[in-house]
Amino acid sequence: MTTDTRQQFASDNYAGACPEAMHWLATANASGHEPAYGEDRWTQRSTDMLRKLFDIDCDVYYVFNGTAANSLALASLCQSYHSVICSPVAHIETDECGGPEFFSNGSKLLVGESQSEAARQGKITPAAIQELVTKRSDIHYPRPKVVSITQATEMGTVYSVEDVREIAWMAKKHHLRLHMDGARFANAVAHLGCSPADVTWRAGVDVLCFGGTKNGLPVGEAVVFFDRKLSEDFAWRVKQAGQLASKMRFISAPWVGLLEDDVWLRNASHANAMAQRLYQGLRQLPGVQTLHAPQANGVFAQLPPAAVTALHARGWKFYQFIAGGGCRFVCAWDTTEEAVDALLADMRAVTG
Ligand SMILES: *Cc1c(COP(=O)(O)O)cnc(C)c1O
Repeated sequence: MTTDTRQQFASDNYAGACPEAMHWLATANASGHEPAYGEDRWTQRSTDMLRKLFDIDCDVYYVFNGTAANSLALASLCQSYHSVICSPVAHIETDECGGPEFFSNGSKLLVGESQSEAARQGKITPAAIQELVTKRSDIHYPRPKVVSITQATEMGTVYSVEDVREIAWMAKKHHLRLHMDGARFANAVAHLGCSPADVTWRAGVDVLCFGGTKNGLPVGEAVVFFDRKLSEDFAWRVKQAGQLASKMRFISAPWVGLLEDDVWLRNASHANAMAQRLYQGLRQLPGVQTLHAPQANGVFAQLPPAAVTALHARGWKFYQFIAGGGCRFVCAWDTTEEAVDALLADMRAVTG
């Protein structure tokens, strides 16, 4: 057990829920009895708000976490003999314990190349997709059916609207569907300054897993089907996977808090700004090598191994992703300038 409650940079899910989400959670609780399993007024209201946000009559389902959102979305796009093309650092490949394969009854993930500059930025390219699709077409190989991209990427970068359009073009050329893991979708939109529609369905995305947890909810992700034909039977898939909340209002009402007055965008913009502050500070430190400039809310840097050990000893929690001391620092909706500066001060002390 720890009594150290300082703000940490291990992940944006270390943060609590934002006041706006908690306000609607409390309001939904105070409203008395409500129909269960998503038949409540909060689920209606928040999904209507999502339809307005995306400017399309999309079909929305709430689940508890991102692994389930991705796994079930992909399973709905694939038969068991199909495959899903993604980046080698994709969360679905590295951090979901085989969930997508399990829920699709065996659809295989095919990872793109890892050596290019795009790959180092966590992105998959149209060329990599083309290569994977055309490499084999025989009956012995799982047939590519979906491309999955992460927006913002696991490396803290963001696909531009044009990037997404080009990937979608390549996907459609080969009759593949396009899935977007948007665990940090808000951070990507805050960076791009575009409308959510422009970087999703208008660019060719079929299904978006819109992350609420890392953006300031207590719990909950939205699976957004822009093509309603694809969500046929999805409700049963969610139920069978144990992801249908009976008191659904406690997931959906906090979404009202995020969506009202663009709190989701404000939360994300703040996290992104804190990442910029951290990045600018890190760049001044001797012996610290930053990777690409952050576009979302994560900062990546190589620190001397002794500095990593010393920072851990000072109680800082963060993940090491890359061999040789590559560290990841993630800012959240509530990260303060003081917390960033405190981390930087300790980094200065241990590297100086
Ligand atoms: C956090 C995250 C998820 C969701 O993870 P859960 O722990 O299952 O909620 C999915 N994709 C990416 C890229 C993430 O960072």
